[in-house]
Amino acid sequence: MAQAARRGLIHTATFPMSSDRPPPSAHHGHPGRVLFVGAGPGDPELLTVRAVDCLRSADVVVYDTLVPQNVLDLVPPSVTRLAVPRDGRDGDSDPGEAIGRLLVQLAAEARTVVRLKGGDPAVFGRLTEEMGPVRDAAIPIEIVPGVTAAVAAAAAAGIPLTSRSAASSLTILTGHEAADKREGIDFQQLAELSGTLAIYMGVEQVERWSSGLLAAGKPAQTPVTIVSRCSWPDQRIAVSTLARCVADFERHHWPSPAVVIVGEVAQTLVGASTAAVRGPLAGRRVLNTRPPGQGDDLDALVRAAGGSCRRVPVIRIGPPASWQPLDDAIRQADTFDWIVFASANGVRGFAERLRRAGLDGRTLGTVRLAAIGPATRQALEHAGFACDLTPDLFRSEGITAALGQSPSATRFLLVRANRGRDLMRRELEMQGHIVSEVPAYASEPIDTLDATTATEIEQVPFDWITITSSLIAESAVRLFGHRIQQWRVASLSPITSATLRQHGIEPTVEATAAVADSLVAAMTDWEIAHAPRSA
Ligand code: SAH
Repeated sequence: MAQAARRGLIHTATFPMSSDRPPPSAHHGHPGRVLFVGAGPGDPELLTVRAVDCLRSADVVVYDTLVPQNVLDLVPPSVTRLAVPRDGRDGDSDPGEAIGRLLVQLAAEARTVVRLKGGDPAVFGRLTEEMGPVRDAAIPIEIVPGVTAAVAAAAAAGIPLTSRSAASSLTILTGHEAADKREGIDFQQLAELSGTLAIYMGVEQVERWSSGLLAAGKPAQTPVTIVSRCSWPDQRIAVSTLARCVADFERHHWPSPAVVIVGEVAQTLVGASTAAVRGPLAGRRVLNTRPPGQGDDLDALVRAAGGSCRRVPVIRIGPPASWQPLDDAIRQADTFDWIVFASANGVRGFAERLRRAGLDGRTLGTVRLAAIGPATRQALEHAGFACDLTPDLFRSEGITAALGQSPSATRFLLVRANRGRDLMRRELEMQGHIVSEVPAYASEPIDTLDATTATEIEQVPFDWITITSSLIAESAVRLFGHRIQQWRVASLSPITSATLRQHGIEPTVEATAAVADSLVAAMTDWEIAHAPRSA
């Protein structure tokens, strides 16, 4: 696993909840701790700042299916992830306790174990059961709250959960009561409350709770708001009534997870917040194919324009097969006239190896630095280097045009990926220059999509896919196949577009400059130009 982490691969494991593991040893004075962290309803933007901090500083993250991939993407690749079944049984014992024992075992080896739970960890999260073994082992515990489903759902639907005129209380209840449970829900008591009911896990039992409430005297016309997959890319909000909701659930098949809000508040402001957050990409779902750790700017820009982003990386970035060529080049850096960076990844690899060798910018002496485009330039500046040149034409041809004209033989070092176009090298050499090329990272296509993502791609109607390099274009074509034809395609550059065309895909739009701003601007321009005109 450590090796996988070093290679920059994400490790995801499904942990068997076996009971034949050794019992936890005494943990007096143990350095490990367990953090129960709320992941919110799904949209990473609804995580708390503290939760994000926890994910970044964790050694292990234990999660279940209620935590969507978008949130898991915030876990750095070097952190071990363990998937546990959400309600799987471990023999006769409670699944919560089995997870608790697993947390104890993990805390024996790791400093910070994060148990990431959908919504708030203390709301229908088997927190008592999971915390039990951890407490018994005297391991320090911290609970980090999260936005619970009812609160997120009310916000998404634009309704208040309490209101001076219509609801003076809020009751959170589960619609899924185990059949053998002696004390079921007291519908009489609930029906008498003048407040709001938020029903979790209620999709399968809609018949049971709605008829229970009606029989207890709750009016048939009581408004019901259903928020399915709140804050996920395929969120759906619907309105019904207590009398009608069984039929509506049957007809519409609102998928889980879904939360149901019952009460007068449910009819007050439906749709207000969805109407308020408009923008040229309002309601548009965008597939962002960039690898983890990159493309966050793209996500943010799409969201700022009103759309939502789903990250499905189709390539991964890792170290090159060997650091030797780059390390050698760094040691002789002052023998070059120009160092040309072909991408922000190249800058990061270069800066990291420089630092590891105990060196800094002074090693570069009088060498001048060039960036192939504005994002690479930004990365250089971010790493503390001044960039001497960024060509007007944001691709390798621009660099050759800008630099190749020098009359005397110039020594170039090209810092680049393990693969890519050789055009720049060939052209510079043809002009009589001396060129060395070193790989500073490796980008590899991802071979397969995990089952959850593959299903999501099948089911969720995406509007756009962003394609930001030729390798991404090729990998996306392989992974998504004919689906791409159904989406609008936003291409970052003419070269990326050319690769797409080789595969029979005509990009819908192409960025005017190879930066995220231009890519999103191209998408919003298209949407504005194609928006239905209001009379
Ligand atoms: N701890 C979680 C609840 C876990 S129980 C929380 O605080 O939200 C699981 C139930 O939570 C689901 O059956 C559903 O009713 C609700 N839920 C969780 N995430 C949801 C989401 N994104 N959209 C709608 N309902 C959700």
